[in-house]
Amino acid sequence: MLPTKGYAAQNATSPIAPFSFERREPGDHDVLLTISHCGVCHTDIHMSRDEWGGSLYPMVPGHEIIGTVQKVGSAVTKFAPGDRVGVGCIVDSCRSCSSCGEGLESYCESGCTWTYNSKTRDGSALNFGGYSNQIVVEERFVLKVSDKIDPAAAAPLLCAGITTWSPLRHWKVGPGHKVGIVGLGGLGHMGIKFAHSFGAHVVCFTTSAGKTEDAKRLGADEVILSTNPEEMAKATGTFDFILDTVSANHDLNAYLALLKRDGTMCLVGVPSEAAAVHAFSLVGGRKRLVGSLVGGLPETQEMLDYCAEHGIASDVEVIPISKINEAYERMLKSDVKYRFVIDMATL
Ligand code: NAP
Ligand code: ZN
Ligand code: ZN
Repeated sequence: MLPTKGYAAQNATSPIAPFSFERREPGDHDVLLTISHCGVCHTDIHMSRDEWGGSLYPMVPGHEIIGTVQKVGSAVTKFAPGDRVGVGCIVDSCRSCSSCGEGLESYCESGCTWTYNSKTRDGSALNFGGYSNQIVVEERFVLKVSDKIDPAAAAPLLCAGITTWSPLRHWKVGPGHKVGIVGLGGLGHMGIKFAHSFGAHVVCFTTSAGKTEDAKRLGADEVILSTNPEEMAKATGTFDFILDTVSANHDLNAYLALLKRDGTMCLVGVPSEAAAVHAFSLVGGRKRLVGSLVGGLPETQEMLDYCAEHGIASDVEVIPISKINEAYERMLKSDVKYRFVIDMATL
């Protein structure tokens, strides 16, 4: 076993604090990587505080992992020591269902195995995430990350990046579309960058007036302050697609009213409480309310390669691991520009 250092939540109310544990020795198909950076996703807050129920402790959060390969098993063919690699939200799946067969592992029909807050496939142990100095992951779930992207700025691509890329690609957002991105945080700022890069007319919806200039710099053509009813009313019936990244409870009907006939609103943000959607919000314009869960391994690799080619990465604030609890408090106040990334050398 490999002695490993990390930071963990011990229960739903404990701070994230130092924690020592063991990783498995790499098997024939495994890659051992030294973690250089790990992004801080709002899911880390929801899960470490048990806001969705069923959290497993102790919990080492973190699923936006960038590192360098230290060692590979004898059957590994895609990676060699020294390679820059990434690990995202998924570290295992059944590999035989139709979703796995199509490379859509997040929709594995027997449930995929998450990087943390999840048991290993055989149920024998807990998985521990990226707030740690090293991780062992099977080759199939490891991604190549170009040296062209700064490693800190690359880390959030592993969750915030793929979670916004996947629905924008699946619903074929592109030129001629008016697209709304709701919430300017970690996911939202990547949603703006991708929708802009795909050629859509991008509108950022924010509750934070102070983020207007940043939203435009990131690629938004327009910014709507969602707390201003007049600005919202002016946009009624004008959107082809809206991607909702908001982490807290909010009124979905207000955004459904902004869709054109046959428009689609996709939820990726997962507030802790169920939303109340009035049937009238949908039936009038034959509108669609859909959702999307991270993304599969092949599309994640495609997204990482696209980012390297197009010079796209996250806007990050790099923090030492000792500031993790402060970072959570700032995210809860929507005070993040636009992703915290832990420099794991500070562990
Ligand atoms: P984040 O960085 O904290 O950003 C969330 C943004 O939502 C905030 O910056 C804020 O933007 C807006 N917001 C917060 N409270 C609000 C409120 N009460 N009303 C309206 N807007 C509010 O979070 P994140 O890491 O991007 O994650 C966002 C959500 O996506 C979380 O629920 C997370 O669990 C979920 N998630 C889902 C998936 C998936 O696969 N579906 C993957 C990753 C994350 P403004 O200041 O611009 O208003
Ligand atoms: Zn995440
Ligand atoms: Zn499967």
